Amino acid sequence: MSSGTKCTNVSMKRFENFQRKTNLSDNDFGNEKALIVSNLFFLMQIIGMVSILCSASCSAISGSGRNTEKMIDVAVNKSKQDAVCVTWMGTAGMYVTDGETGFFIDPFVSRYGLFKVACGFLLPPQNRIIDDWISRTGCQKADAVIVTHSHYDHALDAPFFAQKTSAVLVGSASTAWIGRGAGLPEHQIKTVYAGDRVQLGKFDIRFIKSRHSKALFGRVPWPGAVTAPLIPPAAASDYRVGEIFSLFITHPKGSFVHLGSAGYMEGMFDGLKAHTLFLSISGREDTRELVHYTAVALSAKQIIPIHFDNFFKPLSEKMSVLWGVELPEFYKTALRVAPEIRIRTAPLGQPFILF
Ligand SMILES: [Zn+2]
Repeated sequence: MSSGTKCTNVSMKRFENFQRKTNLSDNDFGNEKALIVSNLFFLMQIIGMVSILCSASCSAISGSGRNTEKMIDVAVNKSKQDAVCVTWMGTAGMYVTDGETGFFIDPFVSRYGLFKVACGFLLPPQNRIIDDWISRTGCQKADAVIVTHSHYDHALDAPFFAQKTSAVLVGSASTAWIGRGAGLPEHQIKTVYAGDRVQLGKFDIRFIKSRHSKALFGRVPWPGAVTAPLIPPAAASDYRVGEIFSLFITHPKGSFVHLGSAGYMEGMFDGLKAHTLFLSISGREDTRELVHYTAVALSAKQIIPIHFDNFFKPLSEKMSVLWGVELPEFYKTALRVAPEIRIRTAPLGQPFILF
């Protein structure tokens, strides 16, 4: 199960430009007036998710670029033995490694425009882009690909990451059916349930029962479960949510939590403490409660927001914020609820040392 994983250097220019433009910096998000939000999700509901304006209007934030020196320390060109490195892949996707063991969480890089998603087009996994991202992470062989729920922006590419890196696909019964539909053999599929624990090298991973946020006009998008092999290409609506997990991950170097959807449950982290919370923030219902029941409950030292980027645009294009995410509101409210917790942003496609 050992993997030839290491942190590698990848070009950061695109995301640095984004950071400069968005001014995503520690505890400084005052320029909220410049956030342009066009809530196409709302429009999508109104016209029955049929014909959408497409992915032309993206949020943009302007800023002075000050305080970029306070951004998260990036482990550029450094492969520190025993350090836990994370590479954020956009949405809730990431690659985690300590140099011996490596695993993906919710890797999703085959992005499609909103028109195709909303109109039920078939969405094949994009092998060339998946290969590119596997090489960006520096991973040739992974131990696991973990899926926190089965929506297409978490699960569509997962079996192919598993196939290409000889990893085991780990997730709900719905995720297992997605793996089978993609042709993964049974020995590369592991079904887990809330409360389960999986050991990967020095990583201990707990699957904690979670809830999906009511991200789409007050409802959970594509509810239900996948109950038969889902043979790709399939439509986004075929990827039913299934069981929803949050991941509580401990390692001798530290602990962190991955929350793949902005839903939360009161008491879900009772008795647990984590250094870092990777927190999905798109589709959140109430920032104050989200931060209170997750980051504060975990006594987290830092929040790294994820799943705020516009995943209807290819990763090769300049990153922008998803419509309706209201990033400044998140920063302001989170800092009011928990002023002692740092909020930091992760670079895209660039391994950084978590601890
Ligand atoms: Zn989802």
